[in-house]
Amino acid sequence: MNTINDISQAILKADNFAITAHIRPDGDAIGAALGLNRILKNAGKKSTVIDLGPIPDRYKFLIDAGENCESQDFDFSDVDFIIVLDSGSLDRSPDFISRWKTTIPVINIDHHISNTEFGKLNFVNTKASSVGEILCNLSHEANLTITPHAAEALWVSIVTDTGRFSYSNTTPQTMSAAADLLSTGIQTADINHKIYEEKPLRQLKLRGRALENLTMHEDGKVAMVTLSRNDYTECNCTSADAEEIVNIPRSLEGVAVAIFLYEFADAPETKISLRTSEPYDAAEFCRNLGGGGHARAAGCALQGYLESTTPEILEKIHNQWFMT
Ligand code: 5GP
Ligand code: MN
Repeated sequence: MNTINDISQAILKADNFAITAHIRPDGDAIGAALGLNRILKNAGKKSTVIDLGPIPDRYKFLIDAGENCESQDFDFSDVDFIIVLDSGSLDRSPDFISRWKTTIPVINIDHHISNTEFGKLNFVNTKASSVGEILCNLSHEANLTITPHAAEALWVSIVTDTGRFSYSNTTPQTMSAAADLLSTGIQTADINHKIYEEKPLRQLKLRGRALENLTMHEDGKVAMVTLSRNDYTECNCTSADAEEIVNIPRSLEGVAVAIFLYEFADAPETKISLRTSEPYDAAEFCRNLGGGGHARAAGCALQGYLESTTPEILEKIHNQWFMT
């Protein structure tokens, strides 16, 4: 593992960067990628965000006309570093990383406890709420200015990964980084409104569907919601519309383990979003199934549709945590 100073030195010496983040990007991935891109450009460097994949509608307001971050069409010839943000492993990163990592050094900046340190340089701070928070520290270390334009993106990163400063990953350092962003003069109420209070009707319908599918287990300690491919189609949604669904089982009184299971592709595969409170370690549970994440929020994928994966996951949870 490298220090933040190693990363800062490497970035200051280089001129040309390709930035990306984990596949199916969330607010942290998108905000961190755009934020770092804007910081580096403001410092006179060449920088491009590439291959973030489809951007969920709620984050599209953040992206400027020239920032075509979904593009895979990119000339790597003069790139000094590929920077991968918020991604715990190569299989969570865009495919081009595996193709280019022997030719162009990869800088891996992340906060997942399950990070496999796949980069040439790796900085993983599991105490940071978000990669946005790490980038605030990195900018400070490297003496790089966070412009208001960059601050807007980093704000999205921090506010979404902390659940608007409500999760246990919110620390005094998180608040201090957020305060620095606020002091650039950005309109955070407008940003928060765009992310959280302008939902299209189809997303509310999808929430309704999930609520109808809610089940309780283990004497009320475990709550689960599911969404099938059919639910998505009938509500005119994709899995990008489901970012907040896991908060439905999580918000119930007495629940310590919240599960959201959804079919997300045409392949027979089910994705799991897991949220836990102490002592249940979500990262460890998901790592055993080939995924990863944080102690309180993690994810993985299982082979099969909901018919088989629902009983399978409930059995695994029972065996791991509720055997007594
Ligand atoms: P979410 O449930 O919001 O999709 O993800 C919760 C956390 O677990 C995020 O930090 C995310 O990066 C991580 N995560 C989700 N799915 C996977 C997965 O399939 N593999 C790994 N390694 N991490 C995941
Ligand atoms: Mn994150």
